[in-house]
Amino acid sequence: MNNEQAAQWMRQTAEKLVEHKDELSKLDQFVGDGDHGVNMERGFRAVVENLDDWKDLSLSQLMQKIGSALVSNVGGAAGPLYGTAFMRLGTAWTDVDQVDGPAWMSGMAKAVEGIAQRGKAQAGDGTLLDVWSPVAAILDENEPDWKKIEDAAQTGMEETESMVVKKGRGALLGEKSVGHLDPGAVSSFYLFQALAKTMDE
Ligand code: ADP
Ligand code: MG
Ligand code: MG
Repeated sequence: MNNEQAAQWMRQTAEKLVEHKDELSKLDQFVGDGDHGVNMERGFRAVVENLDDWKDLSLSQLMQKIGSALVSNVGGAAGPLYGTAFMRLGTAWTDVDQVDGPAWMSGMAKAVEGIAQRGKAQAGDGTLLDVWSPVAAILDENEPDWKKIEDAAQTGMEETESMVVKKGRGALLGEKSVGHLDPGAVSSFYLFQALAKTMDE
């Protein structure tokens, strides 16, 4: 992935989030406060608006910029979590021009670690980490298999439906949170679906 592809990834993600904004907010009405679609759309819109200004940045710098734009513009619980994930990609990719298999593997491992620390969460807690974590887990030294990544993200998202949510607003519902997809897991699926689409083109 180069800077231009990363920018395309952000555009594709923003497009998906706009398309699925109501669906994401609706899911968040079951397990939260109903704003996840609005939050994500606002955040990725802000990222896309800045992409032209960021086109000469290194990938590391670009990921840092995306991360801080997400922290400031997504807001809520998801902003700092998504923001941390991208900022960790940024730190992992210092001195990297072209993100290849090993860079994806180390970057995603750091991103998952960052989300887990920030959210005091682990896989199985019924959050966006249940998408990020299996995606990171299937990466190895080889160039990523984008179809497999999309599939892993989808399976991770689907599995949140049967989980008792242990972190974030959904945790207040206890057992009643079972039977609903986690909104953050669904938005993360769209993010990785957009990545797969961008990289396969
Ligand atoms: P808020 O809950 O502040 O309204 P959002 O609705 O934008 O924020 O985001 C909610 C999503 O954030 C959840 O669906 C979940 O995936 C994620 N989330 C919330 N808290 C945590 C946490 N402590 N650890 C990991 N993920 C979390
Ligand atoms: Mg919410
Ligand atoms: Mg909120």
